[in-house]
Amino acid sequence: MHDCLIIGGGVIGLSIAWELARHGVTSVVLEQGEFGRESSWAGAGMLPPGRVDTARTPEALLRSHSHVLWPAWSAELREVTGIDNGFQRRGGLEIRMGGLSDELDDEIRSWQSVGVECQPLSSEAIHELEPELRTDLSAAYLLPEMGQVRNPRHIKALVAGCLVRGVTLIGGTPVTQLIRDGNRVVRVESPSGSFCAKEIVVAGGAWSERLLAQTGPAPWIRPMRGQIVLLNQLPNPLRRVINIGHRYLVPRGDGRVLVGSTEEDVGYDRRTTAEGVAGLIELAMQVAPCLAKATIERSWGGLRPRSIDGLPYLGRQNGVENLIVASGHFRAGLQLSPMTAVLVSELVRGVPTTIPLSGFQPDRVGSE
Ligand SMILES: Cc1cc2nc3c(=O)[nH]c(=O)nc-3n(C[C@H](O)[C@H](O)[C@H](O)COP(=O)(O)OP(=O)(O)OC[C@H]3O[C@@H](n4cnc5c(N)ncnc54)[C@H](O)[C@@H]3O)c2cc1C
Repeated sequence: MHDCLIIGGGVIGLSIAWELARHGVTSVVLEQGEFGRESSWAGAGMLPPGRVDTARTPEALLRSHSHVLWPAWSAELREVTGIDNGFQRRGGLEIRMGGLSDELDDEIRSWQSVGVECQPLSSEAIHELEPELRTDLSAAYLLPEMGQVRNPRHIKALVAGCLVRGVTLIGGTPVTQLIRDGNRVVRVESPSGSFCAKEIVVAGGAWSERLLAQTGPAPWIRPMRGQIVLLNQLPNPLRRVINIGHRYLVPRGDGRVLVGSTEEDVGYDRRTTAEGVAGLIELAMQVAPCLAKATIERSWGGLRPRSIDGLPYLGRQNGVENLIVASGHFRAGLQLSPMTAVLVSELVRGVPTTIPLSGFQPDRVGSE
């Protein structure tokens, strides 16, 4: 019997298995489809910075510890698998195109108050850094420590790394039932048979709530569709990630620019729409007019696992002593995945967690 059974093979489930293997804990990951092909594949791979020593909120603690872990995780995965996940820190700009510059002043103060390097930019400075941005931006700041990862490559590296370290990965296997006896889950059922382990982790992304509801009151997790369009233009039009509130342009360094994203409450439908794609192309041309000449390579949608308050659920499911929840990372599952894995591994191994899990409890309630 494995020490741990993980349901869901996205970035969260695979990272947990990778981290457990590092500590000699055996695991099996059951994935209903192909590994990492849902939200984790669809994401943009932006990794905002953090500072461990000054982080105060639960989100900032999780983000800043992950920020520290990303370089080491990327190097170790590359060493073990030979796969480069494309992790790099080239910085990012937050911009506004008219009005609302006060909003950016508040954001600058908020980054600086927690010790994260954040530089307000004059128009001249913006155009020195990013000459292809439109010239009448109302405000901008630079986060030099903003990183990015090529998430499909990261998933590939995690899958390969897990296999090298002896993790059992079983795709095409949906878990349909969690079978409970008293206060423990004694086995899980799937069309390919039943599986059991000492500890069970639910990392099923946007599908987690249904599964957890079989064991009692479940955390609130819903799919939130995000669409992305991939443009292609050489020479590279942009050098850094450009954020405009919740929308963004992410240059991949090879002429490709990923433009995202929408936020739509449409259930489990990950298709793209004319309105979604047109809106993103319009945004890209407004931000960097030269992108009007770019070719449209493709578009896709993914289902973010949205929680009640935007924070993930991490911890033991109330009343079930061997069931751990690691879901609901919403817009930040890639960036938060390394520290999520460390915390879940600590829970599984029964050692004190590096940061408190209060704030991430699966039984917390809130309003949408
Ligand atoms: C357009 C878009 C842009 C994004 N950009 C970013 C970004 O820049 N930075 C960032 O940090 N995050 C970003 N995100 C969010 C990030 O992608 C998610 O938070 C993260 O991928 C969640 O990972 P996960 O493993 O929980 O979910 P998923 O990747 O969805 O994985 C869950 C897996 O569980 C499997 N599963 C579910 N139920 C079962 C079952 N019963 N049995 C077996 N398997 C099951 C599913 O098939 C799936 O593969 C973005 C998301 C989208 C959609």
